[in-house]
Amino acid sequence: MGFVPGRSSQTVLRDLLDRPIQDLRISVTDRCNFRCLYCMPLAEYDWIERSEILSYEEVERLARIFVDLGVTKIRLTGGEPLVRRDLHDLVARLSSLPRIRDLCLTTNGALLAGQVDALKQAGLRRINVSIDSLKPERFRAITQRGELGPVLEGLFAAKQAGLGPIKINAVIERGVNDDEIIDLVEFARRHGFAMRFIEYMDVGNANQWRSEKLVPKTEILDTIRRHYSFEELGRDQGSAPSVDYRFDDGAADIGVIASVSEPFCGTCTRARLTADGRLVTCLFSDTGHDLKVLLRQGQTDARIAGFIRSVWSVRGDRYSEQRFEALHSSQGYRPADHRKIEMISLGG
Ligand code: SAM
Ligand code: SF4
Ligand code: SF4
Repeated sequence: MGFVPGRSSQTVLRDLLDRPIQDLRISVTDRCNFRCLYCMPLAEYDWIERSEILSYEEVERLARIFVDLGVTKIRLTGGEPLVRRDLHDLVARLSSLPRIRDLCLTTNGALLAGQVDALKQAGLRRINVSIDSLKPERFRAITQRGELGPVLEGLFAAKQAGLGPIKINAVIERGVNDDEIIDLVEFARRHGFAMRFIEYMDVGNANQWRSEKLVPKTEILDTIRRHYSFEELGRDQGSAPSVDYRFDDGAADIGVIASVSEPFCGTCTRARLTADGRLVTCLFSDTGHDLKVLLRQGQTDARIAGFIRSVWSVRGDRYSEQRFEALHSSQGYRPADHRKIEMISLGG
């Protein structure tokens, strides 16, 4: 599809399926202080060399170029973004970019309490904190080395600091935490957090995903409906991954990200930047496009923008739709047949 006339002095960059580039997920590190079983490959992973990790100056420069191409939303992620030193410096750089209407951080929360004031002061307005279980033992088992206490401390520190909305992300996996859906909803309602349930996905190459582990969106909503009534609000801006719902009594809201059972590739406007400066056009890609080499060769912004345009304009990714088709075909779907970049390099 290429370019169509759009923003005043520029063009809107669209891909082969007519999807504009609007969101940029920046992974600031592939390191993490947790080892969640569904995300982190335990053995054969080559950590990104420190010299390969983009500096904050480099991230800011690329973010400016993406903004010029149409990006209006940036999410910082990882790995665990808060293990990267002085993340608030990056937040300050990005929050002052023109035309960014949303800057968000996704974190496991373990280091949040000590950093939230600096992040807020640097311009962060909202945050997502991942909490899959409110049972300390189970939390430890899922995250392998995480403790629930400091995460809750971080969550409440974020509330105290005035960040909002604060969303809690929970990946629901059958037989692991599907008995906690209502506990999580009640916790969120009680404290004024928004609750986002995420279907368990076959990210990376080592998470042992099987369709039997999936708790589909319909089942999550049916479980909640047995206790509360709510109405559907739809997807924020029409293109957000989450379908949102509002409780009839107005207490908080919930959302479900149903990448497996109700794929939403048709409205996917998300580009990803890895910590080592690769542009990745789909969460399930097996390759990235090296922007760092262009930066470090001293190429101009115009050259780098041209390269990004050339990548995005031929993008045809629709992995979750293809997975859905395979799951419902006679052949079925075997995750092991599809090599992917690991989630910790990509950013969720
Ligand atoms: N470390 C941060 C955190 O955990 O929030 C940010 C990075 S993490 C990769 C981003 C999000 O991806 C988290 O909410 C995590 O639960 C989610 N995630 C990781 N593996 C997943 C999987 N297999 N299926 C669904 N969501 C997953
Ligand atoms: Fe780390 Fe987040 Fe992955 Fe858990 S989900 S291992 S906290 S990056
Ligand atoms: Fe976007 Fe790829 Fe996810 Fe589809 S599978 S919604 S194209 S990231």
